[in-house]
Amino acid sequence: MKFESDVIVVGSGIAGLYFANKLADLREDLKITIISKNSWKDSNSIHAQGGIAVVTDLKKDSIKEHIQDTIKSGGGLSDPNVVKMVIQHGPKRLKELMGFGVEFTKNENGQLDLVLEGGHSTKRVVHSNDHTGLDIITALHNYSQRKKNITFHENQQCIELLKADDGSVKGIQTLNKIKNRIDFFKGKVVVMATGGSGQVYKYTTNPNCATGDGVSLGIKAGAMISNMNFVQFHPTALYSDSSVQLDLITESLRGEGAYILNSKGKRFLLNYDSRGELATRDVVSKAIFEELSSSHEKSVFLDIRHLFVDEIRLKFPRITSILDKNGIDAKTELIPIIPAAHYQCGGMKVNERAQTSVADLYAIGECAETGLHGTNRLASNSLLEALVFAHQASDYIALTIDQIEHDDVSLKQFELSNQRELEFNELQNIIKNAMSKYATIHSLIEDLYVVKMILNDCESFIRLIEQKLVISEPYLRTYNCLVVSKAIVDAKIQELEVKKN
Ligand SMILES: Cc1cc2nc3c(=O)[nH]c(=O)nc-3n(C[C@H](O)[C@H](O)[C@H](O)COP(=O)(O)OP(=O)(O)OC[C@H]3O[C@@H](n4cnc5c(N)ncnc54)[C@H](O)[C@@H]3O)c2cc1C
Repeated sequence: MKFESDVIVVGSGIAGLYFANKLADLREDLKITIISKNSWKDSNSIHAQGGIAVVTDLKKDSIKEHIQDTIKSGGGLSDPNVVKMVIQHGPKRLKELMGFGVEFTKNENGQLDLVLEGGHSTKRVVHSNDHTGLDIITALHNYSQRKKNITFHENQQCIELLKADDGSVKGIQTLNKIKNRIDFFKGKVVVMATGGSGQVYKYTTNPNCATGDGVSLGIKAGAMISNMNFVQFHPTALYSDSSVQLDLITESLRGEGAYILNSKGKRFLLNYDSRGELATRDVVSKAIFEELSSSHEKSVFLDIRHLFVDEIRLKFPRITSILDKNGIDAKTELIPIIPAAHYQCGGMKVNERAQTSVADLYAIGECAETGLHGTNRLASNSLLEALVFAHQASDYIALTIDQIEHDDVSLKQFELSNQRELEFNELQNIIKNAMSKYATIHSLIEDLYVVKMILNDCESFIRLIEQKLVISEPYLRTYNCLVVSKAIVDAKIQELEVKKN
């Protein structure tokens, strides 16, 4: 089937919804279509716990300090102009978000309650208890439902970015999972808001939808990709013998004073960094990986026994239900944790207006590389980045879209197949296991060449079992994971080769 609109938004996380709501308010005459590959709820955004880093208390905090913390966390590779722009926008974007109906937790004085997270020099993370993402997405979705010029299409997976003769993107093709057919969406511009790629690793905090589709589609369309080597591992994912999509234990607990202990019951982070448990995620995760590799244990432990656990239970209802579900009594027991793939710092390279290197293709949120994060995202800066770049894109598109025409594109002829699901699942597991073993933050160059070989074998196998343009959901999932894994590994190899020389 064919659908036509002015703007196509791919993804219904915070970036896609906030962008669409803003543009719909700015230009009521524009037709905006949001497509999402599963239910509108399925995203990384809905799982966000900690909150949004924004300077709101100018007595105790400043824009300058937030900028410094961000640059320090990013290992000197952040773009200072972008950092300044994003942090300066923070307070306005937060206010706007509240205007869309999001309510944040207040303290006893009726002011926004602020929490401390790793790498921040002061308390500045605004939150809605520990289910910030759920509250944001629910409010943004409710708002979008009231906008007459926004149309939703769920269970539509973008499988191709379609270019006109002049090279600009003028539509997409999707796998309609309900009708089991290929649909065509025609638009003047396409905004990718497809999120991250944690699912290329075995242990991840990301849901199943996070298979890096934006980067994979971007590569196919010739968009510039950058910083894919900087995959962030969250240090405190709840270890489980039976599960690979791990529950996150929010960083705010360390802000409250939680310790990380090794299997001998000893704190060890101060041996790695003077900030101890409140060092940035890259430092804490690397220290834990080293501790695990020398002890050969399966996990380290988060200890909150010395804190007022009853108060913590009230303040962190989501964490409480995760611990209860896993039968952990945090008053008397330690919480087993491991680092898990959490956030893609790299992505489609964009400028300050969220434009990719391909005409009329925009990228916002986790699938974009804006220059903010450098080597390591500062905690709770990603929701902020999504808001700021969605704002930038909506403002720019509202101003310029009238100069853009619809254009013809040639459709690809895909054939649908329901076969080989088991083979693709097996292949995806091979990729995930290889990435987790050989492409983490402490990988050596030899490890990376091993995983590169494994990925090349997987690619040959995919080509063998699936002819070109015969697609299925398992094929797309596996193919996207493969493309993104290759981009991560190649970028990591390049980084280490440069360091070697
Ligand atoms: C457990 C967890 C906790 C977190 N906590 C925080 C926090 O406290 N603070 C913070 O700043 N950050 C946090 N993050 C990171 C943050 O949530 C994400 O970076 C952010 O939500 C990404 O938003 P997004 O809109 O770019 O992508 P997402 O929210 O992931 O949305 C992507 C959307 O694109 C859709 N999609 C993907 N591929 C396709 C396709 N091919 N076709 C159609 N649709 C597609 C998905 O279905 C989804 O709707 C957390 C992440 C996780 C996983």
